[in-house]
Amino acid sequence: MSSLNPCMSCGACCAYFRVSFYWAEADDAGGPVPAQLTEPLTPFLRCMGGTNQKQCRCVALEGIPGQSARCSIYEGRPSPCREFAMSGEEGQVNEACDRARAQYGLAPLYKDMLFHTSSDAATEDVFRVQLPDI
Ligand code: SF4
Ligand code: SF4
Repeated sequence: MSSLNPCMSCGACCAYFRVSFYWAEADDAGGPVPAQLTEPLTPFLRCMGGTNQKQCRCVALEGIPGQSARCSIYEGRPSPCREFAMSGEEGQVNEACDRARAQYGLAPLYKDMLFHTSSDAATEDVFRVQLPDI
């Protein structure tokens, strides 16, 4: 992943939303998510620790939201994290991403976004994604 990936200087979604998922995604039921980092929600749901509270912050998040961020369980993160798209990815606005970023004083990504794809790491080509003004 390139250092210009906006998520690496953000992490806002990891400190804004409750991250809940089917209980069997945790490793005590055969899934990838470390169970000790989760909290029970219902008989069928768990959430990432720290995300079901007013001062929300996932216990797996390292860094400072809005400045630098790293998921300490990236390979074992739950499905909502895997499915949450950065705004502007593949040309699609993700209002939730932009809303979380705004909470930490970061601009929305969907109009004018610089990013590297994984293949760019070798070429250092930079792509500018510009969607129509709305
Ligand atoms: S809020 Fe958006 S840009 Fe920030 S870490 Fe989450 S997906 Fe990435
Ligand atoms: S598990 Fe990782 S990606 Fe998901 S909310 Fe926590 S820090 Fe963010």
